[in-house]
Amino acid sequence: MPFNIMTLSLVDRPISRAEGLKILERDQFCCQYCGLDGKASFESALVMSVDFVVPRARKGKKDPGNLVACCRPCNMIKGTRVYANFDEAKKYVLAQREEMRHAWESKRGRPAARAATG
Ligand SMILES: [Zn+2]
Repeated sequence: MPFNIMTLSLVDRPISRAEGLKILERDQFCCQYCGLDGKASFESALVMSVDFVVPRARKGKKDPGNLVACCRPCNMIKGTRVYANFDEAKKYVLAQREEMRHAWESKRGRPAARAATG
């Protein structure tokens, strides 16, 4: 079954649908930061996008080596900060997500009670 994610994303991106699809296929529609599987559900597909590892605002190139599949939350967290390389960017994004998760869990009350039974 063809998986047409391209009608849902990339509309505001400076890369073509064909270019974006190539990157998403290379990365198997998984966010390269948090590992979200863009094929898992419609909701996941909706948030998939392509990220410039070095942002365009920082003269990052539109080059497969500088592009990765990325979900929009990770893209937002990453922002336009400058990182030495992809690994550093990933470390930052994952650390931010952890912090946000802890904040969310502490506000929610009983953390992981449901996950333990699930
Ligand atoms: Zn992600």
